[in-house]
This record gives sequence, C-alpha cells and structure tokens, in this order.
Amino acid sequence: MTTDKSTSKNDILFARAQQTTPGGVNSPVRAFRSVGGTPRFITRAEGPYFWDADGKRYIDYIGSWGPAIVGHAHPKVIKAVQDAAANGLSFGAPTEGEIEIAEEICKLVPSIEQVRLVSSGTEATMSALRLARGATGRDKIVKFEGCYHGHADSLLVKAGSGLLTFGNPTSAGVPEDFVKHTLVLDYNNVPQLEDAFESMGDTIACVIVEPVAGNMNLIRAAPEFLQRMRELCTEHGAVLIFDEVMCGFRVGLGGAQEMYGITPDLTALGKVIGGGLPVAAFGGRADLMQKMAPLGPVYQAGTLSGNPVAVAAGMTTLKLVQEPGFYEKLGAAAERLVKGLTEAAQEADIPFCGDAVGGMFGFYFSNSVPSTYAQMMAGDKERFNRFFHGMLDEGVYFAPAMFEAGFVSAQHDDAVIDETIEAARRVFKRIA
Ligand code: PLP
Repeated sequence: MTTDKSTSKNDILFARAQQTTPGGVNSPVRAFRSVGGTPRFITRAEGPYFWDADGKRYIDYIGSWGPAIVGHAHPKVIKAVQDAAANGLSFGAPTEGEIEIAEEICKLVPSIEQVRLVSSGTEATMSALRLARGATGRDKIVKFEGCYHGHADSLLVKAGSGLLTFGNPTSAGVPEDFVKHTLVLDYNNVPQLEDAFESMGDTIACVIVEPVAGNMNLIRAAPEFLQRMRELCTEHGAVLIFDEVMCGFRVGLGGAQEMYGITPDLTALGKVIGGGLPVAAFGGRADLMQKMAPLGPVYQAGTLSGNPVAVAAGMTTLKLVQEPGFYEKLGAAAERLVKGLTEAAQEADIPFCGDAVGGMFGFYFSNSVPSTYAQMMAGDKERFNRFFHGMLDEGVYFAPAMFEAGFVSAQHDDAVIDETIEAARRVFKRIA
C-alpha cells in the first residue's frame, strides 16, 4: 500500500512528536537520520510483523533490536505478563520470580555463578565496569572501536589519534577526565591488544568486548582474538567482560561464550532476557559478584530492578528458547535469508554479501564480509540507503542504518523469508 506523503499518519505523528521530544524519538536510531525519510510509527506487532500508523504491514527484521526472539506478542509471553500485572506492577521488595530467572540464567550460562538484575543494557555494562574497577583497584578500561556498550560516560569513546592513546568522547557532555581512562583498540587486532597489555597491562581494570559484534553491522570476533584476550586478562589480573546484551541467547542458548568456548569473568545481558520488557543483568564469578552492595563496597541499585512484570516476560521467553530445535530453526531462517538476498543481489550484479550467526545476521554492500570496523565503514552506504527504502516500500523493515545487525525470530518461517527475498529481487533490480 503506497500512502500519499501529505496524508501519511507517520508524517503527521513525526511532526507532532518533534514538538515535545528532541528529534521526535526516544532513541536516536529510530529517527531515520542515517537513511533519511520519515520514521514509521508502530501501532501493533504480531509474530514476524508489525504495522504502522497508516495500517501498512512490515516484515520486521529488528525485533525491537533483539528482544523479540520468539516473535512479537507471543501468546505465552503476553499471558505471563497479564498474570503478573494482575498481582501488582512493582513492589520494591524481593520476589520469587527474581530468584527463578537468576537460577535460569546461571543454569544456562555456566560462567555466571551469580547475577544482578537491572533494567537496561547500559546499566548492565556500566555496573560491570564499576565492579571490575572496584575489584581490581584500577581505573583503565579497554574497549574496541565499533563495539557499542550502551551510553555510560566511560564507554562513549572513540579511538584517539595515535596508537595506544586514550580515546576521545563521542558525545558532548562526556568529560575528558572520564575518557582518559578508556583505551580504544581495533576489533580483531591481536598484536595491538598484546602491545596494550605489554605497555600498561598492570593498570588495566578490564577489557569489555562484544564477542559477536552487532553494532558495526554484524562482525564476528576471530577465535584467536578472544582467546588471546582471555589469556592476557588472566596474566595481568584484568577482568574480562563479555557484553552479550545483544548476542546472549541470540547466537545460541549459551551465548557467544559457549560458541567460542571462552569463559569471561563477567557477562552483561539484556534484550532477550526481558522478552520485550526492561530486564538486563550482569553476572559472573561469585567472588567478583560478592563485591557488590549489600555484601561488598561496589554500589549499584535500581527502583525497578527485577520488576515482576518484566521478569515474567523474560522468564517465559527464556523457557521458550529452550524448546527443542529452537536455535536450529532460528539459525536456518537467518541463513536462508542471507543466502537468498546474496543470490538476488548477484542476479542484479550488485556487490553484496552477508553473514549470519544464530538468529543474528548482517548484509554488506561490498564484496567480502568485513572483519574490522574500517572494512565495514567502507561499504556502499548510498546503495544501502536506497535498498532500505526500496524494501520499506515493499513492506520489509530492516534496521534503518548500515551499521546495525538484523534479527530474525522463531516466527520468520520459510514463507516469510521467501517473501522478503522476492521483494529484494525487485528492489535490487531497481537500484542496480
Ligand atoms: N550492549 C550492547 C552490545 C548493545 O547492543 C546495547 C544496545 O543495543 C547495549 C549494550 C545497551 O543496551 P540498552 O539499549 O538496553 O541500554
């Protein structure tokens, strides 16, 4: 369905939203700044689809940026939320549901011996950093260019101008004094990581990494990169933090750490563990976690942490992903999508390739799958943008920026994927 721009409810809502909300959105990527055009205002979602304010249906490949792994509005998740809500929304006192989800997380992710629930991925990584600093008594942290860990001050940092120099803020309002403790290195660059530990290893509190990166499109860590990182952290007494907010319960049941067979000291989780409501967590070695208040000196808290309604959604989602064959099916859907898109692009002679890890996928307007931030940035952004809008017109919603990974849900069956590929075939021809 094509909608006349002047009467589109999305346009009307966007104009209205901008009156009271900066940029009209509550999280920047939703504003379509990277691709241009009007954001779609969503009215409802079900299974692999959502509908915008004009009543147009889209096949959704962002899945709320990861949480909607079982498909939107799954009846069991909705029922669990309704049941929990009927008992009251928030108590500010502990509940049995929090114990259950903590037990489930510890069971599914063996490196997590103890876990603390929070309400966003940002809180999870921010608290994990504080714990690493508190436990080691060191200030410096290492992160990698292109990895996003939420918007805490210490993490809004890009690489400095020289090798092994401390970073520059990527946001106004982040004090130099904070980022001078953050060293930003290249993803998948083992020699550089070794140099960093050689020159300042004994002052590094932690290394934080997305073990499968999903915030510079999809980029896999090379196994030797993570392996060496583990060794260097152990040798130098630094805490290894895997940020699995995106890839946890997404690339497989035990997350990226299970896939690579590498045990981090701390893990940050989010997205899937809330099933669409605000639950995130950080956890890991019990000796570290016991340094958290009220047991230890590292302070962290939250009025809505472990919220009973959110925990009910998360727990039900965690049960659903454990059904037999869940990840096989999810992985097959992402593979089918990437393969079909690549073939359709080849037919139109467009340089294009893709990759998928479990239920996460990336596609790139370039000849080879990137392994670094710089390679990813070299992709054809202009063509991506035309593809994005072409697909949107066709009723397929991919992430509105070339720098984001995509997600399938368990409800993206063969028919849905094939419909997407047929649409892509038409769009590739138009943008060839
Ligand atoms: N870490 C990673 C890897 C993420 O992808 C994100 C969000 O996309 C975050 C942390 C921050 O999570 P939140 O948006 O819930 O604060």
